[in-house]
Amino acid sequence: MRDTPLLMPPMPFSSLDADLAARRAQHLFRQRTVLGSPQGAQVQVGGQMLLNFCSNDYLGLANHPDIILAAQQGAQRWGVGSGSAHLVAGHYAVHEAFEQCAANWVGKPAALSFCTGYMANLAVVTALVGRGDAVFADKLNHASLNDACQLSRADFKRFAHNDMAALERLLATSTAARKLIAVDAVFSMDGDIAPLADLLRLAEQYDAWLYLDDAHGFGVLGDGRGSMAHAGLESPRVIYMATLGKAAGVAGAFVAAEQVVIDYLINFARPYIYTTAAPPLLAEALLVSLDLIEQDGWRRERLQQQIACLRTALAGRGLMPSATPIQPLLAPDSAAALAWSATLRERGYWLAAIRPPTVPTPRLRICLSAAHEVAGVAALADEITRLLDQA
Ligand SMILES: *Cc1c(COP(=O)(O)O)cnc(C)c1O
Repeated sequence: MRDTPLLMPPMPFSSLDADLAARRAQHLFRQRTVLGSPQGAQVQVGGQMLLNFCSNDYLGLANHPDIILAAQQGAQRWGVGSGSAHLVAGHYAVHEAFEQCAANWVGKPAALSFCTGYMANLAVVTALVGRGDAVFADKLNHASLNDACQLSRADFKRFAHNDMAALERLLATSTAARKLIAVDAVFSMDGDIAPLADLLRLAEQYDAWLYLDDAHGFGVLGDGRGSMAHAGLESPRVIYMATLGKAAGVAGAFVAAEQVVIDYLINFARPYIYTTAAPPLLAEALLVSLDLIEQDGWRRERLQQQIACLRTALAGRGLMPSATPIQPLLAPDSAAALAWSATLRERGYWLAAIRPPTVPTPRLRICLSAAHEVAGVAALADEITRLLDQA
């Protein structure tokens, strides 16, 4: 037994504790919710079944039997791990096949697949622009695009949301060697669609490249071909990115562009080069998902009916303008957004309260999915109406 008392150890993480306490006090503390069932119209949370209005499984494909079967057979055929990076020994025939199909589907000459959309954004922006170049970005772009712009070391110019006059002023005064305009095609927290025709016109006028992050448009808009098809636009100047964990119901992302751009990314995009390839079984699953995206037009029709139903029922109640399955309802403050979410959850509905710093203004983010019947959305609208009437 030692007779001197142990010194109190220093608290190495007390400053982290303080930051977290501040977040709690502002109603901004984040916690994860544990699911006990697959994605679907209903999910099991803490032993309770909840109607799921907060996933990005827009087409209801995340638990589709044909895609599950393709993944199972893919595991039999290719094993589980890819074993290596794409540039070493991890690039399989089924990766090639998927890239071809994805490129054809969005009307581009070539495509490159990625493990996640976050990595695709880091890869494209950091490969295409650097010191001496400039990237022009909407202020409401996804966090992964912002991180990509910062990491690139290019001059990072942000313009107010969808403000084409502001973008034009920035482009007109830029002396950068390479200019890249980078935007969400559908804004993830607002649900509105970027003014793609104007963006393309400015890109042409100022000889800039246009990078579109279509995480929320792919599979949903333009008969499933995404936001560019929806707008009736095509240009070799556009570098198109879609994520595959949302409407496609699987995981990953692809970038589609001119062959020279794809070749450049394979040679210079560090987040592509220095990572292990996604399991080839996922590419098998994605090939089937692409077929379903093409064939099951009823899933998009059902989404349109849901959007119309919700917007009619909640007209004048604070829905933000949106024609996509992302339908945010503005809340007076973060505490109210949290309280709404909690009350709806007691009543069996699961919706996310989205708060700063993710968004400037707190809101309830309603995410529609073809997994629901239209009647389920009508019932949700009734619940929300009751909630707002009580407030
Ligand atoms: C989800 C999302 C991403 C990231 O994609 P992951 O595949 O989930 O990494 C990128 N951009 C936008 C706009 C997104 O909503």
